[in-house]
Amino acid sequence: MILAGGIGGGVASEAMAQGVWTILKHEGRDYLTLREIGAFYRLGTLERSLNQFSLRLGAASLRGHADSQEFYISRLKFILSYPIREIAGELCMSRMDLVKLVEPVLRPGRIPSAGRVDTVILDAGHGGSDSGAVGRLGAEKEFTLDVAFRARTELLKAGFQVFLTRSRDEFVPLEERSRFANRFEGGNALFISIHFNSSGWGTGVETFTLAPQGVPSMMSDGPMVSDLVRCPGNARDAENMALATATHASVVLRAKLPDRGIKRARFFVIRETVLPSVLLEGGFISNPEEIRRIASGEYRQQLAGGILEAVQNYRRAVSSRSG
Ligand SMILES: [Zn+2]
Repeated sequence: MILAGGIGGGVASEAMAQGVWTILKHEGRDYLTLREIGAFYRLGTLERSLNQFSLRLGAASLRGHADSQEFYISRLKFILSYPIREIAGELCMSRMDLVKLVEPVLRPGRIPSAGRVDTVILDAGHGGSDSGAVGRLGAEKEFTLDVAFRARTELLKAGFQVFLTRSRDEFVPLEERSRFANRFEGGNALFISIHFNSSGWGTGVETFTLAPQGVPSMMSDGPMVSDLVRCPGNARDAENMALATATHASVVLRAKLPDRGIKRARFFVIRETVLPSVLLEGGFISNPEEIRRIASGEYRQQLAGGILEAVQNYRRAVSSRSG
């Protein structure tokens, strides 16, 4: 009965008390059966057809596919750190994904370290000599700053304190951005980094949250020794995932672009910042269709509205006792 090992205290102790988990070893990792996960969260019975499965209860559902990392929680797309596997005839999820993803998403109100939120640090990606991605209709550094300004206006109107890591077209090193944000440690602050993507005809919105210790970044070619190092931001693993969920849900809904999912990475600013942090990629500057949207004030206003809604929803989620 082994949900121990320093991860997932809450789930571990409850589950052990109830004695519900069967742990299966696969590829050197612990896996748990979706049947038992469904029972634990009272999600109803597992429906399975071929390799697809779903678990439902009212509005909440978990949905996925054997041998796939794509996973849906109530229609929101997540990329698991490890694929769903069939082991001994049972569909199973890695313990890491259960503890670091499913638990904080389904029960954000139980994140012990999540505090009040009254302050938001907005980080407009790039700036000055670093233009970021450059498209036909403008550069990433201009669009990120504009979204930060618009989001600041929305957040101020709603009563939040807002600070920007840059407020003009200047180069601010990544270390400087995290150092600035970390001055708010112990306060009630969140950190939201705003970027746009670049990769040919790539399309859609994606949200990055810090990879837990031991989990490979989805932006690297494979596992690296540095994956094993605990980063400062790992202190907020659960809040990071709850914030990514709130951010992605609001932004995808408003952007009306394809949903690329919530992913894991170790980008500097989310790795080194000790506040609950997220990095949003609000569309592809390299895509000739998408750049037209990104270059419109209307679209950037939708992203800003999404950021406000995300902060409000995150605050509500972590303070709910029902979660
Ligand atoms: Zn960028």
